[in-house]
Amino acid sequence: MPPAHPFDDDKLREECGIFGVIGVKDAASFLALGLHALQHRGQEAGGIVTYDAEQGFSSVRRFGYVRDNFTSADVMEALPGSLGIGHVRYSTAGSKGQTAIRDVQPFFGEFSMGGAAIAHNGNITNANALRRELIERGSIFQSSSDSECIIHLMARSLQRNIPERMEDALRRVEGAFSVVAMTRTKLIGVRDPMGVRPLVLGKIGDGWCLSSETCALDIIGAEFIREIEPGEMVVITAKDGVQSNFPFRPQPPKFCIFEHVYFSRPDSILGGRSVYETREAIGRELAKESPVDADLVCPVPDSGTPAAIGYSLESGIPYAMGIIRNQYMGRTFIEPTEQIRNMGVRLKLNVNRALIEGKRVILVDDSVVRGTTSRKIKEMILDAGAKEVHFRIASPPTAWPCFYGVDTPEREKLLAATMNEDEMAEYLAVDSLKFISLDGLYRAVGESQGRNKKCPQYCDACFSGEYPVIPADKIEQGFKMQPAAE
Ligand code: SF4
Repeated sequence: MPPAHPFDDDKLREECGIFGVIGVKDAASFLALGLHALQHRGQEAGGIVTYDAEQGFSSVRRFGYVRDNFTSADVMEALPGSLGIGHVRYSTAGSKGQTAIRDVQPFFGEFSMGGAAIAHNGNITNANALRRELIERGSIFQSSSDSECIIHLMARSLQRNIPERMEDALRRVEGAFSVVAMTRTKLIGVRDPMGVRPLVLGKIGDGWCLSSETCALDIIGAEFIREIEPGEMVVITAKDGVQSNFPFRPQPPKFCIFEHVYFSRPDSILGGRSVYETREAIGRELAKESPVDADLVCPVPDSGTPAAIGYSLESGIPYAMGIIRNQYMGRTFIEPTEQIRNMGVRLKLNVNRALIEGKRVILVDDSVVRGTTSRKIKEMILDAGAKEVHFRIASPPTAWPCFYGVDTPEREKLLAATMNEDEMAEYLAVDSLKFISLDGLYRAVGESQGRNKKCPQYCDACFSGEYPVIPADKIEQGFKMQPAAE
């Protein structure tokens, strides 16, 4: 398993990517490529399940990167068939840290009408209560993952076929779910009624695919057809194509606004718009809201880059690659020693001293989580001789944890949960620190009137503390939501 990088804990982490394909020869190769394109959504482990009429269901689940596990001929030959689904994960609900292989998806269940496999992106907020109930009624869980509840709920359903059993199961589930599932003949895709996590539909030749993001369609040469709607279930067969229905009670959509800021790849399309363009628009908004006299705009690579370009274009201040990322560092460093770990950010980022020396620098980053990385980057920039350092952040202060499929530290560890903007600037010892406003972020994602306070158009709970689904399990564990009037 790739070790966690010494400073990766200073970013929020998306926890899963899902991909499914039907009606293509050698589905496993397409799945491996699709999952490779979604690797940014989870690097800890991955799995593929396929179905072939002669060999039945086949499954391979492994720790580590897709490229290291799903490229060898023996593994790919063990996954025959024209239908399959796959999953990449970083641990979310379920075991944290050392994951057991039994927690790696897709999960598989054998029902009286045949087998089914599922892969889930999101987080079930009432999983503890469901699990207790299911165990009391005799279910035997194999993993510690919240997603396994779906399989057990399906097993208990009295419906006649697997899509109907899935509908039944998912009606009991609260929280965020985008799911791809498969039977012997069907590929199924479902999004929760608020559509918190993404899911898109693509077409490849005579076949179809479902993916967390459009970038995974591009890699296999599939055409992007449309997003799966919030609350929609699609059942796809090679013969009849796509059949859609909306089995859940409709709710106002609450897509995760952080997908626009950070999680999704900049070459993906979200809400009909390229993520790159949205991030550039965020940078422009930030420049309008928080201008400052300076000589250079530099991104904190890579995720701050489009917003830094937007800031530069709007402000007229030149853009420069003041910080260079070591592309080959990543998580591949095998068990770094303490001495190397202490080098921290320098392992991954290096300051372009010739550009920075004597300059007033605006650093644009996507977010501040614990603030530890921001402090180190600021020190590196000052060590390189910068005259001033101004931080501009492409998201509002992250003051609340996410319970919908994104790994966040506990609230007390979020810098913005305990300090206001001025206190954070003092703590980071920068000349100025400004975050984009929540309204500014909404404008940048295409909501020209900003955030609708009565019914926000997106989930923004990690910024606002307004949770669109009550996190029942967390409340049971002592988490306190803020009173609605605050
Ligand atoms: S809480 Fe934040 S990260 Fe989580 S779904 Fe909502 S906007 Fe996204």
